[in-house]
Amino acid sequence: MDIHTTKKLNNGVGIPYLGLGVFLCNEGDETNNVVRWAIEAGYRHIDTASMYGNEKSVGLGIRQSGAARKELFVTTKLKKDDMRDGTQMQAFEKSLKLLQLDYVDLYLIHWPVAGKTRESWKVMEKIYESGRARAIGVSNFIERHLDQLLQDAKIIPAVNQIELHPHLSQQTLAAYCEKLGVACEAWSPLGGTGGKILDEPVLKKIADKYGKSVAQVILRWDLQRGIIAVPKSTHRARIKANTELYDFELSPDDIKAINDLDQDPQRIEWGDPSLIGF
Ligand code: NDP
Repeated sequence: MDIHTTKKLNNGVGIPYLGLGVFLCNEGDETNNVVRWAIEAGYRHIDTASMYGNEKSVGLGIRQSGAARKELFVTTKLKKDDMRDGTQMQAFEKSLKLLQLDYVDLYLIHWPVAGKTRESWKVMEKIYESGRARAIGVSNFIERHLDQLLQDAKIIPAVNQIELHPHLSQQTLAAYCEKLGVACEAWSPLGGTGGKILDEPVLKKIADKYGKSVAQVILRWDLQRGIIAVPKSTHRARIKANTELYDFELSPDDIKAINDLDQDPQRIEWGDPSLIGF
């Protein structure tokens, strides 16, 4: 296993287990730099969203990196406003234009919007059928959102990107996704900006044992669970350090100790994602 190792999605497309997240990276030099640094460090998977307002700089960073397009895996997401306004197709085309790409590897519904998800999924299916997204999926869907979507979906989502870290290990939802053939992807894998997980004493102890950082232990825990993860950093050294996951293996006891840190349902910010009113 190494940074290029992929997980096979339900349509056969491979997604690298490790990607760079760019939420809260400013449009302009900051995003442009982190994308270039990540590709230099070996990342081949970048996770952005129209809501992050930095797709243009992601696209620029990709072009400046010199990496061949077919080697990269680029995800972007459809935001809630475009679902409410019925502008899903226009939003996708705008994302492609900003990214300066002919296609994305994964296009996700960013958030479930009551009454708008089915209609949006039909547009996602059209996009997939046009070949301009190699895979389509969802984000922040809990079991009942998946069930609703699957009632009349022609295409089963390839991915569900959800909040997942040691304080919210999502064992039940991850198992449900697996049963449906939907790959589970962790957002805020390190507990998010301003989170406290990196100071967790249990994790520090495990990290010391392996001579690794807490961030590396968490990302290794994701890998060993078969979870895709997209940690974000604006620091070049951390972007690189977050890839150094392949020279150690957590023992079953350590995996259990990390699983036991779960505090569900005390999520960092929310409970049922569809009840969030933004
Ligand atoms: P992460 O869990 O990736 O944590 C990011 C924080 O950890 C930043 O403060 C970063 O600081 C710090 N950090 C990163 N690496 C290290 C390290 N090695 N040592 C110490 N600190 C470190 O948070 P995000 O919320 O950004 O989540 C990751 C990605 O998930 C997002 O960027 C986005 O792509 C996606 N996401 C998706 C959502 C969705 O609804 N689908 C919602 C939220 C996120 P610094 O930058 O200063 O290095």
